[in-house]
This record gives sequence, structure tokens and C-alpha cells, in this order.
Amino acid sequence: MNVAGAPRFTIAGAERLAREFYGLALHAEPLPSERDQNFVLRDSSGPRFVLKIANREEALEVLDLQNKLLERLGRGNTGLAFPRLVAAQSGLEITPVAGEDEAAYFVRLLTWVEGVPMATVQPHSAGLLRSMGAGLARMQEALQDFQHPAAKRILYWDLRRASMAWRHLDLIPEPRRRLLQPFVDGWHSLDWDRLPPSVIYNDANDYNVLVDAAGTRVVSFLDLGDVVHTATVCDLAIAIAYAMLDKQDPIAAAAEVVRGYHEIRPLSEAEADALYTLAAARLCASVCYAANQIRQAPGNQYLYISNRPAWELLGKLASFPQGWPGEVFRRVCRYSKGARTAASLMESRRRLLGPSLSISYSEPLHIVRGWRQHLYDASGRRYLDCVNNVAHVGHAHPRVNEAAARQMALLNTNTRYLHENLAEYIERLTALLPPALSVVYLVCSGSEANELALRLARAHTGRDRIFVLDAGYHGNTSALIDISPYKFNGSGGRGKPAHVEIMPLPDVHRGPHRGPDAGSRYAAHVDDAIRRGGPPAAFFAESASGCGGQILFPPGYLAEAFAVVRQAGGVCVADEVQTGFGRAGSHFWMFETQGVVPDIVTMGKPIANGHPMGAVVTTRAIADSFANGMEYFNTFGGNPVSCAAGLAVLDVIRDEGLQQNALSTGDYLLAGLRDLARRFPAIEDVRGRGLFLGVELSDASTASALVERMKVSGVLLSTDGPLHNVIKIKPPIVFDRSDAAVLLSGLRTALSQNSI
Ligand code: PMP
Repeated sequence: MNVAGAPRFTIAGAERLAREFYGLALHAEPLPSERDQNFVLRDSSGPRFVLKIANREEALEVLDLQNKLLERLGRGNTGLAFPRLVAAQSGLEITPVAGEDEAAYFVRLLTWVEGVPMATVQPHSAGLLRSMGAGLARMQEALQDFQHPAAKRILYWDLRRASMAWRHLDLIPEPRRRLLQPFVDGWHSLDWDRLPPSVIYNDANDYNVLVDAAGTRVVSFLDLGDVVHTATVCDLAIAIAYAMLDKQDPIAAAAEVVRGYHEIRPLSEAEADALYTLAAARLCASVCYAANQIRQAPGNQYLYISNRPAWELLGKLASFPQGWPGEVFRRVCRYSKGARTAASLMESRRRLLGPSLSISYSEPLHIVRGWRQHLYDASGRRYLDCVNNVAHVGHAHPRVNEAAARQMALLNTNTRYLHENLAEYIERLTALLPPALSVVYLVCSGSEANELALRLARAHTGRDRIFVLDAGYHGNTSALIDISPYKFNGSGGRGKPAHVEIMPLPDVHRGPHRGPDAGSRYAAHVDDAIRRGGPPAAFFAESASGCGGQILFPPGYLAEAFAVVRQAGGVCVADEVQTGFGRAGSHFWMFETQGVVPDIVTMGKPIANGHPMGAVVTTRAIADSFANGMEYFNTFGGNPVSCAAGLAVLDVIRDEGLQQNALSTGDYLLAGLRDLARRFPAIEDVRGRGLFLGVELSDASTASALVERMKVSGVLLSTDGPLHNVIKIKPPIVFDRSDAAVLLSGLRTALSQNSI
């Protein structure tokens, strides 16, 4: 940027130029420009013209290029309003004048175009963003075949010449430089031969884009100072780079611009593919040039501030899964093979999928990627996932994926052969459990684990009767539906079978017992049940109730209940399908928080981060009772791929300190939620441990309204509990404090809205 050659005319000087050369007696008012000098000329009715005095280093032929472009755009059928060039009284379009510094300058006069800069309009609606893309496409159509010798110039804002910016990379300190590197590498891998060139506008930044007063439609693009002959797609890339700034969902905003553009002027597949790389390169080039400017003028605070949005955006883009933004653009342009609309997917589901399955949200989500604690949809939106307790160590964790994929490429078979993965997995798993729990069965789901636990308990005791906690859920098989009050007492359920006894859920908020001895009083119900109907084969309990509404049991509950059950010869089963593997934070297993050692522990969901796997761990005595000659064979259970995935999960929990993270993030979140509960009477109770938390609201409709509202703001939650009024928080345990802060502020905003 040639700031040194900028003209320095006074307001009076500009007014004199207007009078002398154009015969206009108008008031001049300076407009911001670093390189040139521009004045609005206004009369009592408002702005009329812009007087432009070019930088003294600007080549005359570049001004001619701009003039010819304006003329062409003025003639085009763009639906946009471009300034018209006004000749001086002499007939000249470009008038040379001497500045007060004696240097020669060139003056031009343009008509004023009504509108407001897009940068001053908030928020940018989807319609406005589409109109921006469409406007740019129309402008390019008008410029089709436009040629001018000055357009083929070397301009550092030409994205094809971004290597001029990369020269300044060294000026950017770490860790920021490292953040830029993948984007710069992406630029290096572009194949420019596949991107057809033309003369482009090259500067659709949101101060140059004019919109109507209502902020609904783009009316013009100003400032032709960066016009250049380069790959046509760069024009759109620059527009989306600016459209993404300061947006909660930058890719969704960019996708609207692309949609608007593509409808008018279809992008080729190669252009659609290059778009994101080019947009990111533009942001990188901006921060590189700014770094150079800062070096030249270290005192200029403005340079630090003006770059903040670009850095923030680059940081956000770097957190997105690789390839996802490009995939969104490919979908917009219909180049994504196999991609279908949400409506078509819904239709297929309705027509062909078993109907006994609900879908989340009134407007279902079409999720195409997961990465760490976020989910990414097909339209470019990112959601904070506070629900998924299966993607335990984060969605698409590379270590889990690599371990499973590597093994998948080598061998996947059943467990009738020797294999290291199986041996290592059962050794590692049992090492995480109390010594008495020493025998492992590997299965494929939480249901399979509980189904087997049921058989083990019955084989060991020779009894049939099962005690369960109210609102409990243990799985989807016939036998497990029979021991899941959540199901058999829920809609479509057939009620409690005779062999099942329901214990009240030890809920100190809603249930009958509170106070310091609540644990004992709840446990007394187990004793009563034995007295009334005889001893059970097993007492099945989640170590903290998920479907019951994130209920933590009062101290001593499981210890006393287990003692009574064992006294009667029964077996105690801890269902850790939701609660295991470090989620509790303070302990690896939730049962440990109750100071008990179960006879059987069942596991599922998080065990292999989404790969279907489950496990049952029990005592030698129970395993021996079960070994009556009938084999327990599970085709997929314990296969080397599952074991590889399971091992990787254990490694990641250890190496990334995720149990500790669940503890500290959970404590922080719990404190924040309790603070919200003090402010908002709609919250009746807040409870939980680690990253297993519940927020109980006054009623189901309040809870579901809150969940819907949070989805709109980009946060995914779910409701549960017998009254459907509990918001469950059980995210991947990589969820950190900044995520917790996003969740808390989202809840605060949603709860502040009147209807909640
Ligand atoms: N037990 C509990 C506590 C569960 O939450 C679930 C699943 N929601 C299951 C068992 C059954 O697991 P799966 O769906 O993997 O069969």
C-alpha cells in the first residue's frame, strides 16, 4: 500500500477543484482512504458526487482501467447501481492537477450512489448474504470478456500472488504462525490451471459493499482500486472471507453467499473446491500484510485492532474438521456425490425406517461431521454437543480412528483365535477395576452386556426375580424391557412383570426421603421387598440414574442396598453404560463414588468411542457358575478391531487427562448452573458429578422450549426424567471450560427470554 504518495488536499482545496473543473459549488467532506483522497460533495439535498484524487504513484492507465470498468458496469444489466463517471468541463475524464506539494495528481468525479456499507448492518440475514453473492455474480457477468492492458498487473492483493504475503510469515510470532501454516499449505496445493481467469473486482469487503437502507439487499460494490486479471473465483473467495468475519457460524454465512452466486453464475467443480482455500488465504494474506505494516509503524494501535476479527476467524476456522467447509460448499453447488436434502432424507426415513424411533428437534438436524465436542451440519452450522456420551473422548478422535482402521486393514475375526488385542484389552480393563472384578466378557452393546449380566445372575443364584430402580433403563431386548420401568411403565409398555420388583428411585429432590439418612431410608425399601416377596437373583441399578433424570444417589444408598441383597444371596449389578470411563471425574466408575464393589459391572456406550462394543466384568465365582457347559459365543464381541478401538479410548483418557478434565470442567459447570438456579426460578434443581449433570425445570414444556432455543443458538441438549423436565448434560469429556462458558451464557440468554 502506498500511503506515502497519498494526496493531501484540504477541504477548501477539494471544493476549489470541484468549482474550477466541474463548475460545482458544493461542500466537500473527506472520506476515509489510506492510499487516495476521496471527498463527498454535497448540497442541501444530500451527497451528490465523490471527488477522487488518486495517489500520485497511481499509473494513469490503472485509472483508465477503472473508468472503462465503470462504463461497462453502468451498461450491464446487473440490477445494481454503479457510480457514473462525470467529465470535467474541459471534456477530460481524468484531470491532472498540481497539489500544494507541487506534485502532479489526477482528479475524477463520480456520481454518488445511495446505500449503507454492509459492515454497518447487523445482523446479516441469509437473504442479504445471498444477495451479495448474486450481485457479485451479476457484476462478473457484466465484465465477461472485458479486457484492458492495465488489468494484467502485479498486485499484492491478487490471491494468485499471495506468496508476496507469505514473505512476511516470519514476522508473525508463534503460536499464531503455526495456525496459519495449514491454510498457506492449502494455497500452495492449488491448481491454478483449473481456475479460469478474467478481470475481477477483487475487493468485496463489507465496507465496499453497499446495501439498501433496510439492510436486505446489496445495491452496489464500490472502489475499483484492486481490480485485476486473475482467477475469477478469487472474487467470490474474497467476498466470503469478509462475510465470515464476526459470524457465529462463518461457514453457514459463506454458504449463503456461495448459494446466491452459484444460482446466477454456476461455479465449476474445481472452483467450488478451491473456494475455501482461497478465502482462508485471503485472511492469512491480510494478517501477513498487517504484520508488515506493524513492523513499519509499531506505534499504530489501529493496526492491531483492525486485525482482531481476522485472527478470531482464523482461530475458529482452524478448529473446524478438515474438509468440512469445502464439503458444505460442494453441497451448495451440488457437486457432493450422494448428498441429499434434509427433506429427502426425512422422506426416506418415514417411508422405509421402522417408525418406533423419534428424531430430535422440531426441525431435525442433518449432521455431516463430528470433531471433538462439536457437530457440524450440512448447511455450515456448528453445534456444541452437550449430549453425546458415546463419543466419549471426542467425535472422530484420530487415535481411535487410526487404531481401528489399522486393525481393520489387517484382520477382523471372532475370538476363537489368539490375539494380542484381546489379551491387552482385558488386562487393561480389569486393571481399572477392583481386584474382585476379574473376569471379562466382551459384547457389542450395552443391551448385550445387561442381557448377559441377567443370565450370569440367574445362573449363579438359580433365581428369576430381579430388583430394579424406578425409571431405570437397561436395554432394548425383551428380557431387558421387562426389567426397565422406563419402558414397561412408559408409553406402549405392558406394565411390571411378576418377576420384577421396583425400588423407588433414590431421588432426594422429588422422592419421599431427604436429609442425612435418605440413603438408608431408600435402601430400606430393598429390605422390605425381600421380606414381602423373597430374595432376588439380582439387584440391577445404574450407578447414577440417567433416564431417571440424572439422579445421584444419597450417600450410603448403594452400600446398604448391596449389603441387604447379598445377605439374601442376590447379586448386585452396576449398570455403568452411561456413567463409566471417567465421566464421574472424581472416580473412573460411578459406583466408586458410592464406596461399593458390585458383583457384576456392565459397560457400553463410551467404551470404544462409538464403535459398537460392550463389556461385562464379574467375579470368578459368578463366572464359574455360568460355565455350565453351554458356551457363550458372541460373533463380534471382543474382535480385534473393537479391542483396538477400546484400547485407544483407554490410552486417550489417560494421555489427555480426561477424567481430570471431567472433574474440573464439571465442577465449574455445576457452580455456574447453581448460579443460574439462584437467578431463574424456572430451575428447580441442579445436580450431578463430573460431566454427568442434570438441570431440573418446573415442567416438561419449559424444558423442551429451552432445548429448542438452545439448538437455535448452536448448543445441543436433551431432556429426560419421568416428567421429561430434566435437561441432561453429558457431553464428550473433552468438553472444556470455554465450552461450559458457552453453555452457561446460552442458558442465561434463553432463560431470560420472557416465555421461560
Ligand atoms: N443401560 C443404560 C443405563 C443405558 O443408558 C443404555 C442405553 N441408553 C443401555 C443400557 C443399552 O445400551 P445399548 O443401547 O448400547 O444397547
